[in-house]
Parts: sequence; structure tokens; C-alpha cells
Amino acid sequence: MSADVLPFLGAAAVVSAAAITWAARLAPTARTSGTAPFTAPEPGVRYLRCDTVHCAHRTHPHRPTGDGTFVCSNCGDVKGATA
Ligand SMILES: [Zn+2]
Repeated sequence: MSADVLPFLGAAAVVSAAAITWAARLAPTARTSGTAPFTAPEPGVRYLRCDTVHCAHRTHPHRPTGDGTFVCSNCGDVKGATA
């Protein structure tokens, strides 16, 4: 075998590996059965960004306290109604 064909064999190997992984992803066994479960949000809950160190600016559900403020369900921080 000539050394001139080695780059082409390498390219063919890369394309073959990509084709095999693509086919494997399309296989019926690769799919998850069913869909993700849906849970309805609680009434009155607001999904607000929490700026505490514990929550690191991520969005968590905040439950209403009844006096216009909302408490974070992850860390317990209280936010105002407009914040
Ligand atoms: Zn929080």
C-alpha cells in the first residue's frame, strides 16, 4: 500500500465513524420512551431570579407569603412583590 493513500484512509475512517454514530442515534433504542412528566405550577407561584449566594442568580419558584412578598423555595429568601 502506498503512503499516498493513508490520508484518504484516515478521512474515510472519520466519515465512517460519523455515519455509525449518526445511525446509532437514530436507532429506536436510543429514544427515550414517553415524554417528560408535566407538573402544573402552584397557583400564585412566581419564577423569579434569586440573587443569594446559595441560589447564584438562578430562577426558582417563589411562593407568595400573603403580604405581597414571595419566599424562595430553594433558600427561603424573601423578595418584594415588585422585585
Ligand atoms: Zn433562593
